[in-house]
Amino acid sequence: MSAPEIRCEQGQRQVFCGLSGIVWLHRKIQDAFFLVVGSRTCAHLLQSAAGVMIFAEPRFATAILQERDLAGLADCNQELDRVAAEVLERRPDIKTLFLVGSCPSEVIKLDLGKAAERLSEVYRGRVRVLDYSASGLETAFTQGEDACLQALLPELPTRPAGERSLLIVGTLPDVVEDQFKRLFAELGIGPVEFLPPRHATDYPSVGSGTLMLLAQPFVGETARALQQRGATLLTAPYPFGIEGTRAWLKAATDAWGIAAEQLERVTAPAIARAQTGLARQRDILAGKRISFLPDSQLEIPMARFLQRECGMELVEVATPFLDRQLMEAELPLLPPDLHLTEGQDLDLQLDRLRAARPDLTVCGLGLANPLEAEGLRTKWSIELVFTPVHGFDQAADLAELFARPLVRGALLKV
Ligand code: SF4
Repeated sequence: MSAPEIRCEQGQRQVFCGLSGIVWLHRKIQDAFFLVVGSRTCAHLLQSAAGVMIFAEPRFATAILQERDLAGLADCNQELDRVAAEVLERRPDIKTLFLVGSCPSEVIKLDLGKAAERLSEVYRGRVRVLDYSASGLETAFTQGEDACLQALLPELPTRPAGERSLLIVGTLPDVVEDQFKRLFAELGIGPVEFLPPRHATDYPSVGSGTLMLLAQPFVGETARALQQRGATLLTAPYPFGIEGTRAWLKAATDAWGIAAEQLERVTAPAIARAQTGLARQRDILAGKRISFLPDSQLEIPMARFLQRECGMELVEVATPFLDRQLMEAELPLLPPDLHLTEGQDLDLQLDRLRAARPDLTVCGLGLANPLEAEGLRTKWSIELVFTPVHGFDQAADLAELFARPLVRGALLKV
């Protein structure tokens, strides 16, 4: 099958920075704490991105850099040590402390790598202190996860040569992780490990026998670093919808030499449930026109699912960065004449959107309200990383995320 032509665009962009990743990463790694070294703006961003989580006890905070710090008049390291001590005193359950760099900490060239080494010495045997950068207006918000996972890699033990294992890379909600664990066990695939792990004590091991499946399409740098440690990347579409999940599992069963009939037998009940659930959403979505503005890096697999399994018409699919290696199995599944854009020139893209007036636009939080005010229905792309959407059992929920604004729009019209 031929893949669509990729049109590259550059210009003004409208994206969140990588700090947003903390919101789902802190839920996943249950004994980690994320200490952002940033300004009040960073603290506000994190609070508003995390606003959906008011019931959770947060394991993130911001060490605020004041104007005095930014002018280089204060020793930020002393202040950082004080805040870290306070956090660890209050939370003895924390086993990994991430120092998260931001634009302000980079502007004043605060060396968080050194700070992490220093604090690791202080808390040796009790807490591992790691660092990564989530700064930048030029990054997609999901790149924060890629940077965080890379910071974890030196912690992963080496697997003895030749010992085969399956490593799933990219954050999955625990409920979805458990579903996949059960499916892999029934298929006869194992051992299966997950990165990021739920606890700092569960680090997966990596070696030449490690086969990798990616759960998220935005962990490319982590995948390439794992390849350098000997792991092999299994090429597959992402496990969204029935088609994507089946193909993703098939990549693993093929690598394990498991017969196709076994895959069909094990997955049949879950596929039947998913088909029933999807049929209801398909009635709402089929024939509706959708555009994706570049934001989450999930745009391509989502568009594939919505077009092939829900009958939607793709007006334009734009993604902030298109990682050819990670999209190898996805691109041929898109319509060959699709308007596929990499990057963003915001004004031009909005002009095209206003001319096409699709039924639904998937975009970042910052653009959703102004577009709604123009009478365009929108879906926040950040919801796709906050909500369990992977696998057979979530296929209908995933479709419903896109159906909901259409149903609401129809009700408002009535
Ligand atoms: Fe902080 Fe920079 Fe993100 Fe703004 S873009 S919230 S300054 S890290």
